Amino acid sequence: MQKNWYGKSNRLGILGGGQLGRMFIQEAINLDVDVHILDPDENAPCKDIATSFTKGSLLDFDTVYSFGKDKDILTVEIENVNTDALEKLEKEGKKVFPQPHLLRLVQDKGLQKEFYKEHNLPTASFHLIDNKAAIDPFIPTFPIVQKLRKGGYDGKGVQVLRTIENLNLAFDAPSILEEMVPFKKELSVIVARNENGEVVTFPTVECEFNPEANLVELLFSPASISENIEEEAQSLAKALIEKLNLVGILAVELFLTEDDKLLINEIAPRPHNSGHHTIECNVTSQFEQHLRAILNLPLGNTRAFQAGAMINLLGAKGYEGAVYYKGLEAILAIPGVQPHIYGKSITKPFRKMGHITISGDCLEDVIPLAKKVLSEIQVISK
Ligand code: ADP
Repeated sequence: MQKNWYGKSNRLGILGGGQLGRMFIQEAINLDVDVHILDPDENAPCKDIATSFTKGSLLDFDTVYSFGKDKDILTVEIENVNTDALEKLEKEGKKVFPQPHLLRLVQDKGLQKEFYKEHNLPTASFHLIDNKAAIDPFIPTFPIVQKLRKGGYDGKGVQVLRTIENLNLAFDAPSILEEMVPFKKELSVIVARNENGEVVTFPTVECEFNPEANLVELLFSPASISENIEEEAQSLAKALIEKLNLVGILAVELFLTEDDKLLINEIAPRPHNSGHHTIECNVTSQFEQHLRAILNLPLGNTRAFQAGAMINLLGAKGYEGAVYYKGLEAILAIPGVQPHIYGKSITKPFRKMGHITISGDCLEDVIPLAKKVLSEIQVISK
């Protein structure tokens, strides 16, 4: 097979062809790496920019296996994929990063939590339950957070149970019951590790959630935290990726509690929403770093050379249909505003349709601009 400039054959396949795959391809082009995509949606954001695009289920063994058969390296932009097929491909000598057994761990929030506990990594206390009836003994400890072990994403699969009346909202499925954390900030650290074992973190960022959608609405880089907490967050992320032996990048979502303790909320072994600003604000973007990590190339410099805010462009409530970005042209006139439009033709309430990075010399400049942008742009249908 033909080798490319870094001495390896370069048939790289990604399971998932959404916005993360799309931004990954943009960086892969710079390193002249071809990217082949598998996605169930024939209109996925990657469809026109991938070297090849295969339509098919990410959860079907045969589809994933046959997609991987003629690739050399496989990675994912979503955790919910068929790990049995990836494991078979791995046994047959393909490089699969993140490793399939780690994808299995991340797919199950219960296994994730047990991993933190076994390795003495700080996380909110929890219990594993099999069904709704098992919540009863915990009623005296309400408020409590119930999370589905599998299948939840973007806040779907998370339910706060405050009073007995909330029990009708509870999931009747294997889940975790987690202590409600009084946090003052939600932070995220992205860390990368290559096969040689080199580990590099990105500076910590701060996320503000849209309470209704449970999605990141605003992200700030750098996080406004003390040097001590920054160091602690960085070493926690490093310890985690080393204990997992993961190759690729890992987003580590953290709670900073009111008494300044860091707790791991959850992890994502792929490029993450909390790293989009790295395209404009850091020497190496999270997408390039993931590529470097899975190809076992030296990891890039992650220094933030400017401050940034990131806004998710979510489909507005009450609109479904052909997308129209109201106000986009006007906000382009604001210095430091850089939109990323994901190429999805149909908007739906809270669907991630794009994001905007606002960068500048310091957060004091950037935050007011970000709030202005947030109030002036709306993702609607015509
Ligand atoms: P998802 O995987 O769907 O993103 P998360 O576990 O990250 O779900 O939870 C979504 C959001 O719910 C978090 O970002 C946080 O704002 C809130 N949340 C989750 N767990 C807790 C908790 N134990 N205490 C307080 N808030 C929580």
